[in-house]
Amino acid sequence: MKSTGKILGLRIDVDTHDGMKAGVPTLLDLLEKAGVKGTFYLSMGPDNAGKAIFNVFQRPGFFSKMRRTKAARVYGLRTLLSGTLLPARMIATALPEVARRIVAEGHEAGVHAWDHRRWQDQLENLSEAQVARELARAFEAFVEVFGAPPKTFAAPAWFASDASLSFQENLGLDYASDCRGEEPFIPIVGGAALVTPQIPTTLPTLDEALGDTHSVARAFFTSVAVAAGKARWPVLTVHAELEGGPFADDLTWFLEQAAEADIRVTTLRELLTARCGTGKPLPRRTMGHGTVPGRHGKVSMPVVG
Ligand SMILES: [Zn+2]
Repeated sequence: MKSTGKILGLRIDVDTHDGMKAGVPTLLDLLEKAGVKGTFYLSMGPDNAGKAIFNVFQRPGFFSKMRRTKAARVYGLRTLLSGTLLPARMIATALPEVARRIVAEGHEAGVHAWDHRRWQDQLENLSEAQVARELARAFEAFVEVFGAPPKTFAAPAWFASDASLSFQENLGLDYASDCRGEEPFIPIVGGAALVTPQIPTTLPTLDEALGDTHSVARAFFTSVAVAAGKARWPVLTVHAELEGGPFADDLTWFLEQAAEADIRVTTLRELLTARCGTGKPLPRRTMGHGTVPGRHGKVSMPVVG
């Protein structure tokens, strides 16, 4: 049978210690069974997920979000207290064997964060030196775990700044995935085109959809399969804490649907290679911020118009 040539980039974010410890091995097993590869973005440093609780009063949308995704059940009490009442546990640096399994099994690994929570909540208030330090610490930790520097980075919560994007230019990345959008592109920051291409997440995530646009995970993944079949360069982001936890069976089911539709699920690197193989140059887009349904706060995305 002739291949449809359809491709889906699979991105896996690891935000917490428990996600790294339990979610990643679960995902590796199910991806192996499905015969697909993905790009894992690892939070390297402290798990301060619990600090989100203290944002309840500053961020009105957050509490309803917590209830909607049943955060206590999904994340577990230990994670919710991590970095608050209990000391923060380290994420990938505490579990290097799990991290190395990712690469040993043919997937791609990149950096997601040093301190995910800090970046997500404070990026706009961090000085350029502090942003540089967050990135440098994460990259150093990655080298310690893998013995080689990362070639890709994905900003926590799809939230980048001109300072972070500019600093990343010096880190030897092949590409980054810092934003939401429609297709791979070359970002323009401060009027100048960067050299590091962006591969945006194009599809909604399960936590954005559950209880909002969809009541059950299966309905969400059905809509994602349809959308992925129609889009040219779709990228789906899953979370080790969700699809590597209570929603693992739903992800397996989705991968079966993708296989039946002859959609090749693979790393973001492969998607970019396929895109570049068309011979058409990547479009240039000015980086800005916007919102996506179901997600609180701003995310980075190309500015339209
Ligand atoms: Zn994340």
